[in-house]
Amino acid sequence: MSHGWGYGPGNGPDTWGEDFPIANGPRQSPINIVPKDAKYDSTLKPLKIKYDPSNAKGILNNGHSFQVDYVDDSDSSTLTGGPISGTYRLKQFHFHWGASDDRGSEHTINGIKFPCELHLVHWNTKYPSFGDAASQPDGLAVVGVFLKIGAANPRLQKVLDALDAINTKGKQTTFSNFDSKTLLPGSLDYWTYDGSLTTPPLLESVTWIVLREPISVSPAQMAKFRSLLFSGDGDAPRCMVDNYRPCQALKGRQVRASFK
Ligand SMILES: [Zn+2]
Repeated sequence: MSHGWGYGPGNGPDTWGEDFPIANGPRQSPINIVPKDAKYDSTLKPLKIKYDPSNAKGILNNGHSFQVDYVDDSDSSTLTGGPISGTYRLKQFHFHWGASDDRGSEHTINGIKFPCELHLVHWNTKYPSFGDAASQPDGLAVVGVFLKIGAANPRLQKVLDALDAINTKGKQTTFSNFDSKTLLPGSLDYWTYDGSLTTPPLLESVTWIVLREPISVSPAQMAKFRSLLFSGDGDAPRCMVDNYRPCQALKGRQVRASFK
């Protein structure tokens, strides 16, 4: 893996363990969720999400995905409740998607892949910063939302309209006044389990909260995701597609459900 990790044949998920041995650890993500094996837990609380649209600050092509970054120096955009204790602040959100609609999500349901998956990344404010939290067992909470093909999603379109300005690796632009709560589905029913980052360094610090209800995305909107490039300006162009890690072994973990 001489040129850094990625999703290509020479540097893809199968090779990440060479530089990041935790790739074979006990709580890796993503996983296949089997709803009939998930245990309903009546003690799980509803998710409480409070996002301040003025905290959105920028959008970046990081060469693996694109991410919308948030100002996280106060408790104005937070996730509480659900399976977590304390307050977690929104840091960024990003997506994973496929080259075609038959794949692209990281988590799967009964082995079924969705064309895209949204990840909203939060960090536990009992630690001093995102960087400190990212290596703690209870440091991060990521809300995962599946996207399924259907009607065009007007909330998502605002994000996609920004992509022309960041088509190559390293490009970024301002992105402000966006309410990421509008990306969430009507129901916040969820599955939860202890897992990891799905990109190197694959740290085992994530409480995963995967929403049951998908949001919609149109075929034209999926095409917009696929118009991004992994490559930088001046490099041979490589389409940013199939930027997902395959499912990892459950290794005895119990998935819990907030709903019956
Ligand atoms: Zn992700």
